[in-house]
Amino acid sequence: MKKITLLVPCYNEEAVVGKFYDRVTGILNDIHQYEFEILFVNDGSKDGTLALMKTLRAKDIRVSYLDLSRNFGKEIAMIAGIDHINSDAMIVMDADLQDPPELIPEMIYWWEKGYKDVCAKRKSRAGETWLKKWTSHMYYKVLQQVSSIPIQPDVGDFRLLDAQCINAIKLIRESQRYTKGIFSWIGFEKKEILFDRDARVAGVTKWNYFKLMNLAIEGLTSFTIVPLRIASLLGCVLSLVSILYMCLVIFKTLMWGDTVAGYPSLISVVLFIGGIQLLFLGIMGEYIGRIFNETKCRPLYFINEYNNTTVKK
Ligand code: UDP
Ligand code: MG
Repeated sequence: MKKITLLVPCYNEEAVVGKFYDRVTGILNDIHQYEFEILFVNDGSKDGTLALMKTLRAKDIRVSYLDLSRNFGKEIAMIAGIDHINSDAMIVMDADLQDPPELIPEMIYWWEKGYKDVCAKRKSRAGETWLKKWTSHMYYKVLQQVSSIPIQPDVGDFRLLDAQCINAIKLIRESQRYTKGIFSWIGFEKKEILFDRDARVAGVTKWNYFKLMNLAIEGLTSFTIVPLRIASLLGCVLSLVSILYMCLVIFKTLMWGDTVAGYPSLISVVLFIGGIQLLFLGIMGEYIGRIFNETKCRPLYFINEYNNTTVKK
């Protein structure tokens, strides 16, 4: 019998873990051809999330849990879970039921048809402000333009991945992870199915604009060096224009003598070049920061407990 693991990263989700379990098992109980595992990753929650996971584990052997040593963020929580998956497929889901488990049978259907990555594409996004929708739309447009691999718009982490994809992702050990990009980067045949994204059933979102902006920069800098390329190109163009202008100034001075006029143009050029230089220093800093973080080669996460056993090493 093929085994499918549902991977559920959780951070302070005590309000929804029970509801999640009830609704998901409602669906899973009707699918008899597969063996299921629900793997909860407790990403350093400060509320009763872990205790809830333990109760569920005690009453249902299909439930596993992984307790990380602190809050590492969803991206790391996901790879921690993936490292502990030994199944024929996995489905990544949020604990807040924004990803409807009713889609699971359809995902399995397409997986059995041979697709290695069945991703759920949002038709609509309930419970999100127009500003969030608009910024997200614009961001994907830009990202699409500058990155060499196609990044799927309106597709989140909710997807079914075949064991081949799982094994590929296990090999990618970068610490500043942009998992959405990694899913695209590994390749394999993808199938998009459409769904309406619900609003979170309870609890609050862990994202704020600052975190989202960081994730956005992460996405840009981890999959493309186009910003650096732009810096080089713009530098070339500006230098060329400067040389031409210099020639013009020298010529004018030789022909008509020295004049001191031109303060406004001078100051605007100086400020403009200064601004551009700072901007691109910042962009270079982003990449240097990434190099710094990756060269430390630290383990991605530490595990406190895995299914009732304390992890010592
Ligand atoms: N999450 C996590 N670690 C974090 C933040 C979030 O494991 O540091 C989990 C969270 O518990 C949820 C999923 O990631 O299952 C998505 O988070 P959330 O619903 O807050 O994000 P949104 O749906 O608003 O983008
Ligand atoms: Mg959510």
